Parts: sequence; C-alpha cells; structure tokens
Amino acid sequence: MTSPTPHPRHDAQAEEEEEAAMKRIGHWIGGRVVPGTSGREGPVFNPALGEQTAAVDLASAAEVDAAVASARDAHPGWRATSLARRAEVLFNLHELVDGNRKEIAALITSEHGKVLSDAEGEVARGLENVEFACGVPHLLKGGYSEQAASGVDVYSILQPLGVVAGITPFNFPAMVPMWMFATAIACGNCFVLKPSEKDPSPSLVLAELWKQAGLPDGVFSVVQGDREAVDRILVHPDISAVSFVGSTPIARHVYETGTRHGKRVQALGGAKNHMVVLPDADIAMAADAAMSAGYGSAGERCMAVSVVVAVGDIGDRLVDAIAERIPAVRVGPGDDPTSEMGPLVTGAHRDRVVSYLDDGALGGARIVVDGRKTVPEGSGFYLGATLVDDVRPGTAVYDDEVFGPVLSVVRVGSYDDAVRLVNDNPYGNGVALFTRDGGVARRFQYDVQVGMVGINVPIPVPMAYYSFGGWKASLFGDSHMYGPEGIHFYTRTKVVTARWPDPTTSTVDLGFPQNR
Ligand code: NAD
Repeated sequence: MTSPTPHPRHDAQAEEEEEAAMKRIGHWIGGRVVPGTSGREGPVFNPALGEQTAAVDLASAAEVDAAVASARDAHPGWRATSLARRAEVLFNLHELVDGNRKEIAALITSEHGKVLSDAEGEVARGLENVEFACGVPHLLKGGYSEQAASGVDVYSILQPLGVVAGITPFNFPAMVPMWMFATAIACGNCFVLKPSEKDPSPSLVLAELWKQAGLPDGVFSVVQGDREAVDRILVHPDISAVSFVGSTPIARHVYETGTRHGKRVQALGGAKNHMVVLPDADIAMAADAAMSAGYGSAGERCMAVSVVVAVGDIGDRLVDAIAERIPAVRVGPGDDPTSEMGPLVTGAHRDRVVSYLDDGALGGARIVVDGRKTVPEGSGFYLGATLVDDVRPGTAVYDDEVFGPVLSVVRVGSYDDAVRLVNDNPYGNGVALFTRDGGVARRFQYDVQVGMVGINVPIPVPMAYYSFGGWKASLFGDSHMYGPEGIHFYTRTKVVTARWPDPTTSTVDLGFPQNR
C-alpha cells in the first residue's frame, strides 16, 4: 500500500506551524530583548540532531546604529560610576554566571554541539576573566611622579575609549565574549557584542545576567548578525575600538577596514598548532596529550593541536600509541554525559572538514584511523576522530586550518627540522613541546615564532592575568586579548603635569621650561 499524497494546503499549514513554534533569537538593546526588523534571519541548528531548532535575526545597519546609540547615551553615566561600584557589579556578574553555569553550558551544547563538561569548562575559563576584571580599582591605577620639576608633579590616568565592539566566533560562544567584555566594561567602556550567528543564544543569557548584576541599560548590548552587521561596526563613527576573534581572512578584513576608519583594532585569527615530540619524551604521555588536544571539542578550538611533529625515530611508536587510543573515544550527543566528543557545528562545516580526507587534499598522506567510519547513527553533524600519517607541507590537509577532529602527523629528522617547520608556518597561535630535557625546552621557547608556548602542556592557554594571543597570521594588531594587554587596549592614557604655585612667587618667564 502506498502512503497517501499529503494535501498541499496541509503541508503549508504544517510548515507555518513549525515556523511559529521555532525559537526566535533577537538582539539585546537598551536593557531588553528586541526582535529584529531587518527581515533577514539565519538558521541555528542542534548539531547532534542535525536539525534547525531556531532562527536568529540578522541585524541591518540601522539596528547596529540603534545599539551604538544606546551605548553612547549610557557612556557618560557608566564612565562616571565609581571603581568600587564597577567592581561590585562585576562581582555580582561572577556570582550570577557561576550560579547559572549549567544552564549556560546546556545552551552552548544545544547550539554548538560540544559535550556538556567542555561547555562548563568554557564558562569557567571565561569567568576567570570576570574575576580578573573584579580587580579594576587596582588595574586602573596610573603613575605619579612627585616633584618632576620644582613644585611640579606629573601623573598618568587611564580613561575609557567610549563605545567599543566585540565580534566573536562560534567555537566559544560564552568564553570569548567574556575575554572581551569583562575588561572593556570594567575600564568604563560601553560594549556592543556581535556574536557568531551559529550559536547566538548564550549572548542573550549573559546580557540578562549583566542586567541582574546591576549594569545600567545600554552599557552592554548584543546585535545578532552576519557580515552586514560587522561591516557597519567597522565604519561606525561612534565606535572607538573593535576586538575580533575568528578566522584569518576575516580578521585581516576587520583589522584593515577598522583601522582605515580610525579605530583601534585587535583581531585574533586562525591557527595551525603543532605539538613537537622529541625522541626522549614519554610516548604514552605525549599520545594522551595529543588525543586530548587534537580531539577535545571535536578539534574546534583555536588552540587545538592539529599537527603532531614526530622527531627522529619515534614516529611509528607515537602513531601506534595514538591510533590505539582512538577507538576508546566515545562520540555522541553533547548532552549525553557518557559522550567525550560531540558533533561539528554545522553540516556544511562537517563536509568541509571531511573534504580534507580526499586524495587531492591528502597529497599522499596515509589515513591511519578514518573517522568517517565511526559516526553515530542519525543525522547529526558527526565525524569521528581521524589520524593521518606522513603528512607534508604543501598539501591542503597540512596548509589549511582544518578545524575538526583530524590529527596530522609530520615526521622530521631533528629538533632543528621541527623548529623550521613550525616557524615556516604562516600561523603562530600555539605550540607545544614534549621532552624531558629542560635545556632543549629552554632553547625551544627562545627559538619558536609562536605567541603561546606549552612545555609538556598541550593547550597552553594563558591564565586571565596574562594575555592571550598569537603571532604572525594569527594576530592582526598590537595587543593580545584580556589580562594586562586588555586593560591597555580598552583605555587611553592621559598625562597631567600640574603645579600649585604660591601666587606670591609668580613671574613672567618666556624661556623654554626647564626641569633641572
Ligand atoms: P569566522 O571568521 O567565520 O567568524 C567570526 C566572526 O566573524 C563571526 O561573528 C562571523 O559572523 C563574522 N564573519 C564571518 N564572515 C564574515 C565576513 N565575510 N565579513 C564580516 N564578518 C564575518 O570564524 P568562526 O568560523 O566563527 O570561528 C572559527 C575560527 O575562529 C577559526 O579560524 C579559529 O581558529 C578562530 N579562532 C581564533 C581564536 C584565537 O584566539 N586566535 C579563538 C577562537 C577561534
């Protein structure tokens, strides 16, 4: 028996009902959720199901302007707010985000796909930036030189820039915004966030928590959107600075366009992180580290290891040790507590990652473990952990940022060859060295042209009181993000030279001012 052909009117009706039931994700402007008016929207998926679960409004230039206008109006009041009160609001935010950590993590998992423990870890690392910013009274201390000249004192003060914007990637929808906004707002700026359109919901929860923490309306805004919103941010005359984290081509565009329009810009780009394993390393420990750093968050971390560099004669042992660990990785939905690796963020991204396993992209490299064969059933955007050996520079799988669970092994003859490989790579975000030789490790940290270096640490993300950022094509601009460089980025220094003379000693002196 054939199934009856559905009545076209019913189909349209069902579609309408489905659309009406679909979650809609709007902007946050002036202290409340504001539905989009541009008429443009983007799909948001649950990657574990492979289904669209929400639609996000994509801002027009006019909607960006509305957020910036509300930020500009709020700025004089926020700038004048005492450091003690700012610190109090940040402490409140810390408590609220911490208290809602599980809910935020669940939201991240539902739109990004990463496993819940990883999503909670992201919130925890982001919170460390809020903790750092709670020290704002200390962080904004300037310098003071008494008696710089006779009866003259000189002091420097750090003042906010005004309205600043942050544009963030899909892979850390809570942590990367926290990298930026905690410091920016603590310094007295108003902040407009343009999150990734792929996982936009956590930004609205963070906005609501800022409000509950006591932040005045307009100091923090969210405009959902894509290129159109970004391009308006980059030329908006009332935005003083832009922080960006994302892929290298967009980072370059953001840096070039933003600076051409007179803005201070820090733009963190993509990565190709190498993990160099020297012949004296503990192979089991190095294999464990390569697994964690290569396949954690399905390889969608800017600090993920994507290339293991096997030095000398350890190649076979290291590849075997990694390959034998892979079958134990549990791939499944992020909200299943037994899963260790979730799906990729979208079907299009999964397909792009899979394309690096084509012969043309491999250029003769050998697939040791093929993750295409280990995907869970269903329509989720999965790819299992994949290991590729005998990879060489000049092939797409080596040269491109794959951003998925594909770990390449490059075999080299010596320490010098390994350093040359890393330094010749256009990216310079993170690198790790595994060895038991302290002298070689010290030489490596001196030699290597990379911004964040791990010695027997596979993912060397700096603590919140240092700053995060790469070198070369992984960073456009002068400032790394958060920590001391974040304070520097979000403030301007003013130097005051002051004299309080005794009027009875006042004379006219047309000579050049002397200090000695
Ligand atoms: P992406 O560059 O595609 O998007 C980043 C942001 O730019 C998003 O908000 C997006 O809406 C916007 N955007 C995208 N295309 C644009 C265009 N043509 N014009 C203007 N704006 C545009 O990056 P992604 O895929 O969301 O994130 C993954 C990338 O981010 C990877 O390359 C990863 O290495 C990088 N990343 C880097 C760091 C770091 O610290 N260096 C940290 C996290 C992620």
